[in-house]
Amino acid sequence: MPAKELESPCVDCGDAEFVVDVRSRRLCKWELRQLLIWDPTSHRPCYERYVSLKVLRRIENYRRPKSVPKGQPYKLLLPLSFGLSSSVMLHAMNAQLERQLSKPYPMVGFELHVLVIEPSSISPSSASAEQRFGLLQKNFPRHSYKMLPFHSIYEYEPTVQDIMTQFAGEGFVDDGSLSHKERLDAFRASITTATAKADVDQILLNRLVVSYAKELNCDAILWGDSDSRLAAKTLANVAKGRGSALTWQVSDGKSPSGLEFNFPLRDLFQAELHSYANLIPELMAIIIPDEPPLENTLTKNLSIDELMMRYVQTHGEKYPGVMANVTRTANKLQPAAVSAGARRCAFCDAFMRDSEEQSEFCYACARSRPDSAC
Ligand SMILES: [Zn+2]
Ligand SMILES: [Zn+2]
Repeated sequence: MPAKELESPCVDCGDAEFVVDVRSRRLCKWELRQLLIWDPTSHRPCYERYVSLKVLRRIENYRRPKSVPKGQPYKLLLPLSFGLSSSVMLHAMNAQLERQLSKPYPMVGFELHVLVIEPSSISPSSASAEQRFGLLQKNFPRHSYKMLPFHSIYEYEPTVQDIMTQFAGEGFVDDGSLSHKERLDAFRASITTATAKADVDQILLNRLVVSYAKELNCDAILWGDSDSRLAAKTLANVAKGRGSALTWQVSDGKSPSGLEFNFPLRDLFQAELHSYANLIPELMAIIIPDEPPLENTLTKNLSIDELMMRYVQTHGEKYPGVMANVTRTANKLQPAAVSAGARRCAFCDAFMRDSEEQSEFCYACARSRPDSAC
């Protein structure tokens, strides 16, 4: 039977009509009918292949490093927020693992552990994630899963309580008779500005993720930040005085904790992740959609992180190349040489400069403290 004439064939395979235009490449993608009979080994439509290849190309770095002995798994921790980016990353990693296992002599390069920090324990306006957590384990059963409340930081980091008391200064009195949740709430309430609150939350969440990764003896943490989020994070970190932390908060490499930090979605725009997730119903079922920004929120009530994310989202749509450039440039930064015994900030773990000798806390953390917030 002669092939059907196509009006606008996909530029990659030429076998199907193009459905999406991505960075000026007109590609075909799944139709609902194909999704219902999905077979991962069959021909993958070009759009899905394009997006997953971009992710998988980054993920190839996680093939067993030569230093890891044969037979020993390379353990990765994937913190999942049920947001778009980390959920897409889990799906792509899972697909990669399935492909490795489907080969006649499977060589599995990594082992994946998923950590969820219960969203309702971070923001009381979030609904409980119990149901989504169950769905996650059902849809991607090959990996290990753990859900922890934010306040479990006291169990995983027993020294954090003293650091918090010191950080918060005289205005905060820790009451040891309260539950962990109440103690954390009281500490968070002592932080005054929107920017400092977001900054402090981010540091504590990172500490919890790192402690959990260490407890599992993980080799690396995979952060789900997209190109857009990394661009926003770069600009916000510089504005907050955290420029020196960019080499591990935005770039791939070893963090001061000794664990590798990697950002496999760094080449993908938020909009591309959206299109990818829209192709896959089991993925959409676990994603908590972003709340649309409130139009009438006063700028002064937003944290620098939120402001930068909004800026990148609005301008990133118009000038995606500019945002990609910000992220790419930040990824080329080399960490400053530090001696093995260099002091580290008691709160955020960043290496300290000589000029910060007088304090337990780095310059950026000091700015977030309640008695010196500016
Ligand atoms: Zn195609
Ligand atoms: Zn610090």
